[in-house]
Amino acid sequence: MTSTDAAPTSTQTFTSLDPASGEVVGTHPIHSAADVAAAVATARKQAEWWQALGYDGRKKALVRWRKLIARRMEELAALMARETGKPAGDALLETALAIDHLAWAASHAEKVLKRRSVAPGLLMVNQAASVEYRPLGVVGVIGPWNYPVFTPMGSIAYALAAGNAVVFKPSEFTPGVGEWLAATFREAIGRPVLQVVTGYGETGAALTTAGVDKVAFTGSTATGKRVMAACAQTLTPVVIEAGGKDALLVADDADVAEAADAALWGAAANAGQTCAGVERVYVHERVYDQFLDELVARAERLEARPGGQVGPITMPSQVEIIRRHVDDALARGGRALVGGPVPEGARFVQPTVLVDVPEDSAAVQEETFGPTVTVTRVKDMDEAIERANGTRYALGSTVFSKDQGMAIAQRLRAGMTAINGVISFAAIPTLPFGGVGDSGFGRIHGPDGLREFTYPHAIARQRFKPAIALTTFRRTAKEEQQLTKVVRGLYGRGKR
Ligand code: NAD
Repeated sequence: MTSTDAAPTSTQTFTSLDPASGEVVGTHPIHSAADVAAAVATARKQAEWWQALGYDGRKKALVRWRKLIARRMEELAALMARETGKPAGDALLETALAIDHLAWAASHAEKVLKRRSVAPGLLMVNQAASVEYRPLGVVGVIGPWNYPVFTPMGSIAYALAAGNAVVFKPSEFTPGVGEWLAATFREAIGRPVLQVVTGYGETGAALTTAGVDKVAFTGSTATGKRVMAACAQTLTPVVIEAGGKDALLVADDADVAEAADAALWGAAANAGQTCAGVERVYVHERVYDQFLDELVARAERLEARPGGQVGPITMPSQVEIIRRHVDDALARGGRALVGGPVPEGARFVQPTVLVDVPEDSAAVQEETFGPTVTVTRVKDMDEAIERANGTRYALGSTVFSKDQGMAIAQRLRAGMTAINGVISFAAIPTLPFGGVGDSGFGRIHGPDGLREFTYPHAIARQRFKPAIALTTFRRTAKEEQQLTKVVRGLYGRGKR
């Protein structure tokens, strides 16, 4: 089945597999460049209809879709759990958060984007100034597999609410989830304003050169660079939501037990395959031993297994990366207090707590994307901040402290910070989500996330003739002198 209007020209298919059992979950078309072009052409027509609906019509339509997803959320969560291997409860939580974002985007688009007056300034006081954020047209969304509903929904819902049509290329590991979203949209709204194209990286690459008006990419930094290079050929703007190496900082006034609990969940939830998951912890020396005791006690009780709280590693090739990071850490003097070397051929990686790992090792600097965490003792929070800020990535971050949370957060180089909680920022629809450095740029969620899929249109309307006519060849030397006087009077007075 395909949710594009045009029949696919390619007859090739691929399968998505249950990573825990290896069973086939579904068979999907490998959409060719021609299929992608057809989908974008359909989207272009749909965008006209969608834009003509206006804010109110789009809101009503998106509410219908929201209701349909909410009514069938168990079905979506079950499919997601099968395709990714994540526990059913986690899949349900992810679906719930995605619905919340869809609801927010639908109900706030008008307020954030509609034309509003802005002050014209003293020199242009005769003008009425206003700005409106207009839809770009067709947005191509390329998604990852780790949060295959929540993550792309951060682009899809906001792009749609802003008035764009969307062509979505889900990860090759989670094509069924993508098709489910497009099919329910069609069911709720009756038109393919949201379409899905499935396949491998080539299908995604075809989307970047198919003439879309923006690409919203979520995935690895390496692929993000390729997407950006492809988009550069046509000056197509991009949002890059890439990887992370998020740190959790524990101050000496922290609730240490809570911090340990958050660190473990942040590190091992979704088997550690979370862009804004906790991969490094820096702990004040005064509470280091206590923190480690709390963390180790909890981590020892957690087991990665079929049906457990920690599922399999979704992508087989990721196991090799996790193994390399752990082996390198151990070879360079690190110790595993929980877990240890990853066995050959493993699909389940056990929660792993590493200490004494050199700061320049892969386990501290590169994205591991497994249920592992390094814990490092620091003499004070200045050192913790310096180390936390010491990787090329800068996505999320976490601080545990009773009194210094805000002060520490404001010194962290990161797109988001959770204080005395973990990843909480992602679930708040009003907050922008995104990174800096190798974690990418641009924002999804919140007002910034709506504006990301628009372009501002500025209007200056003359209300009455200006006292000094500036933009005419009729301007006189006297008027220029008057202007000089006015500007000096306004901006040149006072002490140096
Ligand atoms: P990936 O980069 O391998 O693939 C992402 C998507 O890009 C897939 O749909 C893939 O088919 C497609 N793709 C591959 N090559 C392409 C190309 N040349 N042109 C266009 N598209 C192409 O990433 P992944 O393994 O699916 O996801 C895991 C990564 O995503 C991790 O690094 C994780 O941190 C990151 N991630 C980031 C966020 C965020 O919001 N910052 C959220 C979730 C995941």
